[in-house]
Amino acid sequence: MTNAQEPSLEAKFHNRLLAAVSEVGLRTRLGLAAIREDIQNVGGLQSAKLRLKTRIRVGCISARPSKYFLTTRRIGRMDLSVEAIALEPGWLGLFTPGEIDQAMATLSEYGFSPALEAPTEPSAGVPAPFEREPSLAPIRLSEPRRAFTLESIWARARPHGECELTAESVIALRNGGHPPAHPLVRKHIGECLKCGNLYPDLAAAFERFDEMALQTWSGMLAIFRTAMNLEDEHIKRFVLLAPDDLGQPEEYQPYFDHELEFIRPICAWRAVRLGCHIAKFMSAFTWTFMETGDLWLRWRRGELRGPVSDIVRATGREEFLLALTAENLLLPRSWPTEDEGVLWMPADEDFAPVPGVVIDPSDDLDEWEELLGKPPEDLHPYGILYLAYCAAIAQLGEPEPGSKDLVQGAGPSEQMDRMEGILRDMQRSQAEDRERQDAIIGQLERVVLNMKSTDRAACEESLLAELPGVYGKLAPGARNLCLASEQVYRTPGYAAPGDIVRGLATAFELQLRHTVMPGLFDYLEYRGVKNLKIPEEWIRSHRAQDRSQPLWRRGEKADKCELGTMDLILGHPEPFVAEFFVRHGFSLADIQEATDLVRKPRNAVSHGSCFDIGTAEAIRADWFHWKNRPGGIFSVFFRNE
Ligand SMILES: [Zn+2]
Repeated sequence: MTNAQEPSLEAKFHNRLLAAVSEVGLRTRLGLAAIREDIQNVGGLQSAKLRLKTRIRVGCISARPSKYFLTTRRIGRMDLSVEAIALEPGWLGLFTPGEIDQAMATLSEYGFSPALEAPTEPSAGVPAPFEREPSLAPIRLSEPRRAFTLESIWARARPHGECELTAESVIALRNGGHPPAHPLVRKHIGECLKCGNLYPDLAAAFERFDEMALQTWSGMLAIFRTAMNLEDEHIKRFVLLAPDDLGQPEEYQPYFDHELEFIRPICAWRAVRLGCHIAKFMSAFTWTFMETGDLWLRWRRGELRGPVSDIVRATGREEFLLALTAENLLLPRSWPTEDEGVLWMPADEDFAPVPGVVIDPSDDLDEWEELLGKPPEDLHPYGILYLAYCAAIAQLGEPEPGSKDLVQGAGPSEQMDRMEGILRDMQRSQAEDRERQDAIIGQLERVVLNMKSTDRAACEESLLAELPGVYGKLAPGARNLCLASEQVYRTPGYAAPGDIVRGLATAFELQLRHTVMPGLFDYLEYRGVKNLKIPEEWIRSHRAQDRSQPLWRRGEKADKCELGTMDLILGHPEPFVAEFFVRHGFSLADIQEATDLVRKPRNAVSHGSCFDIGTAEAIRADWFHWKNRPGGIFSVFFRNE
């Protein structure tokens, strides 16, 4: 008997835990991945036991409880934790006394008392809260609002069709249902005397609907305003180290700038996602009206009379600009639809709750990305916010009554200056790495452009001889750089012989980025690698500096990767890196060796060191005849050389 019951008790526990995790999932999207995976792989009971075992094994109280436990604690529902569930009566025999002790210890450590805090099940006898005023269905972004048009055509095609449609809404309303705010019904109830007199409750329901919608709108704008604070001052809270943490004070600024470069796009992406959500909400609201055109602007201008217009006109100018900014975000591209029209938004700020936006508290930017997804690759989130904002100012500038000074006026213009400033800073910091290299390439390409055809032919001939079987296969950019380097080499008395080294090193870098990296990155994605972080021991041993960004992350393309980063990626302990080279017939060891060889002189030369002609020539010869291989250092990119 007992034996036959055991599997079913285990199955019951499995379902209980699954239900608890789902319930937690209604409140947060963070910290559930591991337990969900475990439940699927090893079942509910084993997942629970794993979580009760970890801390015992570590054997010290200070070991942190499982991520799932901390998640239930964060949302104030420790009653849904494995620990609390394990203590529920009815699972007798499933857990060892040790596991039970562990569960109790964890719960009491975090101040949870099962007997006092277990939520009481709502008993079936309790009546639903009494609804004093029946109302319309709130706006749901997932509903296709365009379906109304068909109904409207149908209603118009019949005499009294509108009166009938209105009556249907009233019946639904009076039966305690929540009919949608139908634009035709809204219009009709205002125009038809008969219906207006018969159904005052319907007119009142529309008023409440508008009031609530505008309240939601204004609540979302308040959050949007905070999310749009993207200046250094506001986002520096995510920078991990303080100036004192770094030994040298002059090292802090570069570190700080580098951090912000990583932080800002994520914060901007959150603002974009929220803005789009607001825009969809605004659009859904206008669908409950029959009037056409840009209704928000028409309300603002007072072209349409009524309580909605009054509220929109009373909205502060900055608030309204933000609303227009949000609307403009929908212009340039389509955006993913949120599940059920709800936006899950990470926040470390304290926001008042707003319908349709679920705030998931988190100050971990990785978790922000997890919730928001990555921005589409072709999108620069901050740039799009900026453009939407400029467009909003232009839109509002004209119709705003008595506001010639709007564009030049203190408020918006200051904000615009500020945004412009940030945009410039950001472009600068992003471009900095590339700039130096672009300058080198530009300079050397000018050399190539100014070559006489006889020079060019002579240089090509020499390179074909120096790099047999390889020169012709190089990427065009790399070939040009070799040509320029060769020209410098052949020019007697050339003022900067370091350009010989520069040209060849940059050619090597381009070729590495062109031949190896895209394939490697594709392979890592195919193998499910999420990112390549700098290993801790590299930081300890000063092989690499700590950076906020991983060396590579999913979706990242090779064209931004510079030599130092590529060098670290090649040496990364992730086994799939090495596997790629084996599979694709490249020698990782050779590529690493050649990269190391190129890196030092190349860094010296890009940081301003001067090479005399003798040193430059020696390096050139060394690279061209590396390991006595035809093609020298460039041979590592071609399998059969
Ligand atoms: Zn009527």
